[in-house]
Amino acid sequence: MSAEPVSVPFVDLTAQRLPIAHELEEALARVMRSNSYILGEEVELFEQEFAAFCGASYAVGVDSGTSALELILRAYGIGPGDEVITAANTFVATTFAISYTGARPVLVDIDPCTYTVDIVQVQEAITPRTRAIMPVHLYGQPADMDPILALARQHNLIVIEDACQAHGARYKGRRVGSLGHAAAFSFYPAKNLGAFGDGGMVVTNDPDIAETIRKLRNYGQSAKYHHELLGYNRRLDTLQAAVLRVKLKYLDEWNAARRTHARLYQQLLGGNGIRLPVEANYAEAVWHLYVIRTVARDKLQAHLKERRIGTGIHYPIPIHLQPAYRDLGYEVGDFPVTEHSAGELLSLPMFAELTPEQIAYVAHTIKEFLADYARLEAVG
Ligand SMILES: *Cc1c(COP(=O)(O)O)cnc(C)c1O
Repeated sequence: MSAEPVSVPFVDLTAQRLPIAHELEEALARVMRSNSYILGEEVELFEQEFAAFCGASYAVGVDSGTSALELILRAYGIGPGDEVITAANTFVATTFAISYTGARPVLVDIDPCTYTVDIVQVQEAITPRTRAIMPVHLYGQPADMDPILALARQHNLIVIEDACQAHGARYKGRRVGSLGHAAAFSFYPAKNLGAFGDGGMVVTNDPDIAETIRKLRNYGQSAKYHHELLGYNRRLDTLQAAVLRVKLKYLDEWNAARRTHARLYQQLLGGNGIRLPVEANYAEAVWHLYVIRTVARDKLQAHLKERRIGTGIHYPIPIHLQPAYRDLGYEVGDFPVTEHSAGELLSLPMFAELTPEQIAYVAHTIKEFLADYARLEAVG
């Protein structure tokens, strides 16, 4: 084997930027010279390119993934008195977006294999107040959309995809973002498609919703100084759009690399007593995160840190046990799969530019730890 890498970061934005630095600098300079810094051609072109990438009709650039989710809810008129069903294991922005509108997030547990919403529990959570289901394509793996869409049709509900971790992922051959009524994407720097700051996108096939969100993101304007709605300043930054247009061209290539890395982790780590992530048979996942599961999580994380390997935990505290959500009235024990996995999940380094040597070093270090751990446990 070649020399061990000195370290393996959790993500490496330098490795992504360097090969395309010239193109990115060119794009930034183009915007600078244009003096057009708010919306404009770069944003419009990126919206068209991103909609085409998703196989959807419309895309509307906004200032974050959280705004994308919130503005979709507002565009559908969801607010106080309404309920929106989503997963208990997600990033808190999913439920915050619901709460901002005055609606109530109704949580359901996750499927222990895919970590996406448990469809049986979604069905059980539907009440006369339910307006929408918000499945999260967590870690880059699409939720099982067909049964969700069937339930939504049956109960006349809106389906909003939280695709903030899943740019380019496919469900039964179709890209996420084109599956429900509308979808939200985030361009936070570490996402599969990341800006040089915050950014987000709404994707939809519904022309009315696209139009409403265009107004909501820009002070409710239909024309300059004509304010039809109580809108916001939630526009996608023009500089970020220029950066994202460059990066979008590489996204399929980067996602393919992530898929290759996931296969190598699978080969090297299989059969070692830790739970590896599985790709559902309906899915082509884009591995935003590669999340393993072990009871020895905290010790393993410390061991990897000592060996200069970066990891993350997504997420250590479930939504319903966050102090910010005390008033929802949930208790410990309400979502056992989410709660149990929160203590065992560990996200390994995952980004397109990882090398096979780095992956081998991570896998080797994990196996070394597990062998020692098994020995210590046996001695007791
Ligand atoms: C990142 C993320 C968001 C929010 O995106 P921001 O751009 O950070 O506002 C929402 N949901 C999920 C699942 C995310 O991972």
